[in-house]
Amino acid sequence: MSKHEDTERGGQSNSDNSEEKDWAALKALFDNTKTAKKPRPPKPSNAVTIAVSSRTLFNMVKERKVFEDEGLERYVAHQLELEDQLFTPGVSFPFVKALMNVNARLRELYPDSEELFDIVLVTNNHAQVGVRLINSINHYDLNIERFCMTGGESPIGYLKAYMTNLYLSKDSKKVQEAIEEGIAAATMFTCDSENELSDTQLRVAFDGDAVLFSDESEIIVKEHGLDTFFKHEKEFENKPLAQGPLKCFLEALGKLQRKFYAKDQRINCPIRTYLVTARSAASAGARVLKTLRSWGLEVDEALFLAGAPKGPLLHKIRPHIFFDDQMFHIEGAQELGTIAAHVPYGIGQKYNKGKRIETSGAEEKKL
Ligand SMILES: [Mg+2]
Repeated sequence: MSKHEDTERGGQSNSDNSEEKDWAALKALFDNTKTAKKPRPPKPSNAVTIAVSSRTLFNMVKERKVFEDEGLERYVAHQLELEDQLFTPGVSFPFVKALMNVNARLRELYPDSEELFDIVLVTNNHAQVGVRLINSINHYDLNIERFCMTGGESPIGYLKAYMTNLYLSKDSKKVQEAIEEGIAAATMFTCDSENELSDTQLRVAFDGDAVLFSDESEIIVKEHGLDTFFKHEKEFENKPLAQGPLKCFLEALGKLQRKFYAKDQRINCPIRTYLVTARSAASAGARVLKTLRSWGLEVDEALFLAGAPKGPLLHKIRPHIFFDDQMFHIEGAQELGTIAAHVPYGIGQKYNKGKRIETSGAEEKKL
């Protein structure tokens, strides 16, 4: 169930009422305390909640190696020894920074609104590592107040409790689990990008099939080839595609974009969205555009590459994050310095560069 539907359900229970009271009390406490430097965290049902893992927010490659080679006890001891040393930024850091810049603009326009990005740090780290994470977060002036330290347990239950709109992690199993639970999620990889990214505009690029949309048309390409696909898309041009795992995140971005449009800031809106699809425009583009329209959603730019590589175009766009379900597009994007996140969903997981990967029956079931 989406956050939207959830908040629209009628008949509040007693526990909902007492939660409302708790939030009102918290708001009053913040309003009466002179801590204007630190904005109050928004209520999850109003915010666009982005959950990032500590390993995507910060570079913890060395630490991970200690954990893998020497075990948990040594890992925790190592983190405690280095508690005063800051982590360097990781692969989701520029995205998180960009979210905070959007929040600053939203707060200027709507000082009392809670419709903001809220970042939750989700980590299966031991709580002992928390101090080093807090030190680093404060050093980089990141406004992250919600931590979720699961001590090795799966974070999925917490993601639901936080009403997460997007979850980014380096652990593809957890990402897959989140997607199966209906949470938009993607796996991030270490990427040594030197690309200069905009610090005034958040740019988010999405693939179409099996990312914003379901993989129903992708299945036809993979199993019956392009000619059948083109014919099929023409025939079903007016039948909207089913939604894919990232649709709700595009919807959440659109909700915040409209707040800028309402203040006459469409031209210099600090959020810009891109559809970067391998589809051909003339042969298979109409169904995609009509689907978006049927959802009441739009992207600022729609780029139909007709099978051309995505990397060079993404290099020009310079998104803070690019989502795709196929690893060869992720690799192509990364080679040219784009920060790319893999959405492990749909039939594309069974293929590599057009060739079917042999999987056992048990694995197949999971895909
Ligand atoms: Mg795709």
